[in-house]
Amino acid sequence: MTPMLPDDPSPTSASHSAVALAEAPAVSPDLMRAAEAARPRPGFLRHLWLTVRRWVDVHTGEDELAKTHEAKVDWPRIMPFLGLHVACLTVYWVGFSWVALGVAVGLYAVRMFAITAFYHRYFSHRAYKTSRVAQFIFACIGNSSVQRGPLWWAAHHRHHHRFSDQEPDRHSPRQQGLLWSHMGWFSSESNFPTDYKSVQDLAKFPELMFLNRFDVLMPILLGTSCFFLGRVLNAMWPELHTSGLQMLVWGFCISTVAVAHATFTVNSLTHVFGVQDYDSKDDSRNSMLIALLTFGEGWHNNHHHYSASARQGFRWWQIDMSYYGLWVMSKLGIVWALKPVPAEVVAQARRQAPKPFGKRPRKP
Ligand SMILES: [Zn+2]
Ligand SMILES: [Zn+2]
Repeated sequence: MTPMLPDDPSPTSASHSAVALAEAPAVSPDLMRAAEAARPRPGFLRHLWLTVRRWVDVHTGEDELAKTHEAKVDWPRIMPFLGLHVACLTVYWVGFSWVALGVAVGLYAVRMFAITAFYHRYFSHRAYKTSRVAQFIFACIGNSSVQRGPLWWAAHHRHHHRFSDQEPDRHSPRQQGLLWSHMGWFSSESNFPTDYKSVQDLAKFPELMFLNRFDVLMPILLGTSCFFLGRVLNAMWPELHTSGLQMLVWGFCISTVAVAHATFTVNSLTHVFGVQDYDSKDDSRNSMLIALLTFGEGWHNNHHHYSASARQGFRWWQIDMSYYGLWVMSKLGIVWALKPVPAEVVAQARRQAPKPFGKRPRKP
């Protein structure tokens, strides 16, 4: 068995977040903006060339990219992601088959679970332990969701918990609006680099660093596999009415875009709509609908109140598919030491026994 991994280095509660905030270096945003403006920028063609190379190797030209930190959308850089959306429109030409839909739903489920149970609860919060081999497999599956590498994801998410809805938060609807919190923030130049200092516990694993650097490999592998699956099925069982391109569009493109936007709602909608069972000192909300879509991530107010636990649905009726999956994996010995939600944390709710449905008035 490979070595176990260290405990959660991320903030675990509102009080921890406050400590982190207090310890953050006090550099005024005006000073930072002035320093940005004074830095020399690469020319247009140079920037474009570096961008295309970064589609493959995210470390390409990092020093120059560091000089162009701006909170504006880097359109050339996100062309592959936009291309995925355009590819979904080709469904008109590739047609429909039940087997393609089934693969799309299956890959949605597997990858949504990978994002919530692995990228979020494991890599970002270290809410349980696993072996080094399983850790790498978790990273590969999560990476196939086209939400960049595990270290990039964890670093930005830890930053979000440290400054939730405060000015430094990179995807706060309160600070930058709903659309920016949904998909503007990760499309901007300023948020492409990975802050390796905040994920040192992960950066010590060369295999994770490799995945993080070449974060396009797993998506290409999955897309190619979908294409050949469709080709093979068509050759062996033509009555299924599928094809390579049809499986690529349904299994990879449509499924990936659905996983992506469902995930993004956690950053956008659950900081705006829903109920606040806990006084988490930010705008996070609980939403049953988003919890169902994202396998438990919709209990976002619970999570911001206490982020250390493997479970985000604190009450029996708060459906948390990712936790159920992790519980099964723990029984199989794949993961272990799932961090529980302490009873006193659950009891800190504004109402001691909130009902699953209906009005829940806030404390004055
Ligand atoms: Zn949040
Ligand atoms: Zn979190």
